[in-house]
Amino acid sequence: MKFADLGLSDELLKSVIDAGYDEPTPIQAQAIPSVLMMRDIIGIAQTGTGKTAGFVLPMIDILAHGRRRALMPRSLILEPTRELAAQVAENFEKYGKNHDLKMALLIGGVQMGDQVKALQEGVDVLIATPGRLMDLFERGKILLTGCELLVIDEADRMLDMGFIPDIESICSKLPSQRQTLLFSATMPPPIKKLADRFLSNPKSIEV
Ligand code: AMP
Repeated sequence: MKFADLGLSDELLKSVIDAGYDEPTPIQAQAIPSVLMMRDIIGIAQTGTGKTAGFVLPMIDILAHGRRRALMPRSLILEPTRELAAQVAENFEKYGKNHDLKMALLIGGVQMGDQVKALQEGVDVLIATPGRLMDLFERGKILLTGCELLVIDEADRMLDMGFIPDIESICSKLPSQRQTLLFSATMPPPIKKLADRFLSNPKSIEV
């Protein structure tokens, strides 16, 4: 399988070449075409499998070719920890450098001021930990009604950290007509239940 066969745009293929990748990893080869076809996905994959590019690359293509909504974020990536959120943000910047997409990193442990300012200026994608996202939402600083693409990453770690109620609450604030991608290293029953409730006819990918 080649990157050129996955349906990504030429700009994204350039980002992939610039990143120095020769071939897609198995999760990328399976996930990227399905994400571009707007399918929901359950990806059973560990960190280190290249899963981040598996959702960030097609997400950039979807956002770049869709219509921008003034001020309303169009996509949301949930991560269990600040470190993982920051890593995904770095990936987004690296792969998205040829696109004019705005991102806000919403994590705890830093002042809210800059995050609120970024939200007020308008962003395409939010990369967030559940706690800070809920906090900003409850303060009335975020509208999630335009988020038509949701990624729940490291779902089993979210479970270990007690974030499932927050995730359920966040999912219910998003439009029901949306695309949802869920990644987890394992599939314990609470994650299966979460997927059954919030994903629609998902394609399962296991690597
Ligand atoms: P991840 O599992 O998303 O944390 O990615 C693990 C590492 O693999 C990161 O350092 C990526 O830069 C790298 N990587 C992602 N996709 C590829 C690829 N197709 N070929 C080589 N390395 C990759």
